[in-house]
Amino acid sequence: MAGLQSEKLQQAAACLAVLQAQVDAAFGQINRLCTVDGQNSLQQLDAHQQVSYELAFCVAELEAAKAMLLYADNVAAEDQLCERLALAFCAENLRSVWQRLLTYGAEAELSSHHLLKLMESEPIAGFLAEQGRVAHYASIGSELVKRGSTRMPSGLDDEKNMMRESFARFTEQVVMPQAEHIHRFDTDIPDDLIEAAAKMGCFGTCIPERFGGLMPDQRDDSLGMLVVTEELSRGSLGAAGSLITRPEIAARALLHGGTQSQKENWLPRLATGQSLAAIAITEPDYGSDVASLSLKATKVDDGWVLNGAKTWCTLAGKADLLVIIARSDPDRSKAHRGLSMFLLEKPRFDGHQFTCQCPRGGRLTGKAIATIGYRGMHSFDLSFKDYFVPDGALIGGNDGLGRGFHLAMAGLSGGRIQTAARATGVMQAALDSAISYAGDRKVFGAAVSDYQLTQVKLGRMFAALTAARQFSYAVARKMNEGAGTMEASLVKLYSCRAAEWVTREAMQIHGGMGYAEESNVSRYFVDARVLSIFEGAEETLALKVIARQLIMNAGETN
Ligand SMILES: Cc1cc2nc3c(=O)[nH]c(=O)nc-3n(C[C@H](O)[C@H](O)[C@H](O)COP(=O)(O)OP(=O)(O)OC[C@H]3O[C@@H](n4cnc5c(N)ncnc54)[C@H](O)[C@@H]3O)c2cc1C
Repeated sequence: MAGLQSEKLQQAAACLAVLQAQVDAAFGQINRLCTVDGQNSLQQLDAHQQVSYELAFCVAELEAAKAMLLYADNVAAEDQLCERLALAFCAENLRSVWQRLLTYGAEAELSSHHLLKLMESEPIAGFLAEQGRVAHYASIGSELVKRGSTRMPSGLDDEKNMMRESFARFTEQVVMPQAEHIHRFDTDIPDDLIEAAAKMGCFGTCIPERFGGLMPDQRDDSLGMLVVTEELSRGSLGAAGSLITRPEIAARALLHGGTQSQKENWLPRLATGQSLAAIAITEPDYGSDVASLSLKATKVDDGWVLNGAKTWCTLAGKADLLVIIARSDPDRSKAHRGLSMFLLEKPRFDGHQFTCQCPRGGRLTGKAIATIGYRGMHSFDLSFKDYFVPDGALIGGNDGLGRGFHLAMAGLSGGRIQTAARATGVMQAALDSAISYAGDRKVFGAAVSDYQLTQVKLGRMFAALTAARQFSYAVARKMNEGAGTMEASLVKLYSCRAAEWVTREAMQIHGGMGYAEESNVSRYFVDARVLSIFEGAEETLALKVIARQLIMNAGETN
């Protein structure tokens, strides 16, 4: 982290580096523990799950803290609150990482004696004594209440800031007035909301201009998609912010592996919202274990016949296009290499169930699963009975055979940073609500926000939210350069967990009103809970994506 201008930020970076070295050492040690006869054995990793999971969170917290330091450095001249926030956040995360290492590090042969000494010696001891005091977060919390705004410099260029402003207005004028009704009565998202969002261009944020989207042709640019997603999610996770996830995943899969005619046919329709997509990966027996999926695609004369079940397919009713991953090679020993991706065109259906007869034979039925939150799009159980799709439905044509897993993963890495932005939007809504309520509500003769405990909560919530936002921007910039796949999992891990905590605290600040169905904050709480489950469940990301890669990398540097 070279080049930080302020001495305090440099000191924070030095402290993070000390604990980063411990985390790296732990990964190195797990690598050695998993090495049998000179070969790294993936089977052995499962014997170290708990420590690997904690280490993945350590890395996520350290990376979030680094993103905050770089952000504070970048916008220092615009608002002095940014540096104070970054320093308090670093102090909090140093303690959290250290706590995880102290509790679980012995599993990776870290010495608790050494860890204790690190916290008592420089640079960490001095930094925590100065920046780790309760008074810092309390003063940040109380300043937020006084300002009546959590608006901070974004660190983005003018174009993205304008995008944010126009989607913020859209959310306030169109999404927010309808969000509570959609949630309470579990209705469909009204067509006029979807049409208005489409007119704003929200479905095209991840599709290149040459295909009718908003992304430049010459390079990837995920930042616009993050800004738009966050603003829409501030209004409603289920009825607005998550509308972009499906075209994001579908477009990435098509751009990575579609034939030219598939791209020309589908991308412009997805970009304008003329066609809505749904993604059908999860099955009743296989969710995290994507390589084992079993929905059968059987080759017939001029196409394929689909048989089997999918579950949790969000927006499947209203979608015109299902993107389905299916087993096209009956040899199950081929695992993920036997999977391909198919495009199924269907009519739109409103409501909680539908039946769709294929003109060329077969039937698809869908039934929505009742959920505690994330309402509006509905997530469906799907059953495919001899459903025919033509040859042109196979993504990539013959070259796409066996590439379904690869294409799904390409799509999901975009879905993961997008989910971090969804988490940020929900956190922003929860924090705004908490600040407003804490200022209005009097307890024991004073406003809830006058109490230190509340001020610290608000300060910490604000830090978590700002870190999630800036971390996701940092990862998006990496992804724009063609890297950042593992980091997309890290930022999802961090932000989704943070959203659970922030919405929990926001609800708590509302007291009994927070638990009332009529208060928005109860919706934020149930909505936030799903974020760590989908787009890669937290445990799967921590163990099978993040820890596995870092343990393997540690082997290369041993
Ligand atoms: C509201 C909602 C909407 C969704 N929308 C879609 C959608 O549009 N399309 C789609 O395809 N899917 C969708 N999903 C499905 C979602 O992606 C899956 O639920 C998720 O991938 C987890 O799969 P699973 O539910 O089968 O859990 P499992 O895979 O059965 O996992 C159960 C638990 O075990 C943990 N676990 C998994 N592997 C390990 C391991 N090796 N070691 C230790 N623990 C482990 C998991 O993290 C989880 O906590 C949605 C889910 C929800 C709840």
